[in-house]
Amino acid sequence: MKKTLCIFLALSTMFLSVYATNSIPEADRLSCWNATVDSTDSSGNQRIYRMTVQPKIAFGGVMSMGTFSASNIEAYTTYAAQEWTTVGMPVNEVNIGSANIIVYAGKRQAMLLIDNTITATTYLLPGHTYFHNGTGQPEKNWYYNSDVKCGYISNFNKVVLIWDDIIGNKLDISEGTYKNVLLHEVGHALGWYGHSSNTTDIMHKAAKDSFLLTSRDVNHVKQIKGY
Ligand SMILES: [Zn+2]
Repeated sequence: MKKTLCIFLALSTMFLSVYATNSIPEADRLSCWNATVDSTDSSGNQRIYRMTVQPKIAFGGVMSMGTFSASNIEAYTTYAAQEWTTVGMPVNEVNIGSANIIVYAGKRQAMLLIDNTITATTYLLPGHTYFHNGTGQPEKNWYYNSDVKCGYISNFNKVVLIWDDIIGNKLDISEGTYKNVLLHEVGHALGWYGHSSNTTDIMHKAAKDSFLLTSRDVNHVKQIKGY
């Protein structure tokens, strides 16, 4: 099963790399994703954030992160940028001064200083993305699977990888899993507010360690960007 999935993903990725320069046909835009919804706005519209500028990512550093390797987390940042870029959602890796997505990693107390929206509801999660939604004004409504979703301006995001639980014990996941977590969190930083309903997608809320984006992951974030 795992091998079959890998072959499928490899073929999907090859297909998308060829396909990337073209716009997504309307039929695919309407069928490539079924999202679960994390919240609704005051008008009852599902909330989708999206960047309105070229995504530029930087590694911001590791802070008091136990035994974890800063160079590995930096390498995972590069991998996430390259993976999204390879399949047609270009993310440039830049220095921190010109980045609009910045990746931090560390112990929870240090990460709270970076992102104070980390709360009890996220205390068992190894990754978190802070959405800075600019003016907060709806840009336009768009349609997907017959649902109206409301787009918001998002020009800057912080991604934090969290090493420990709320009482300071290391989370029960391997360092390698953070590579997958970071790939997922960058997806949020690029515009995903909710999660995929498909367990094989990186953008599922409990994504497995495949380290590869599916065609659904990619098609939807392209839809958000209007590619
Ligand atoms: Zn998520």
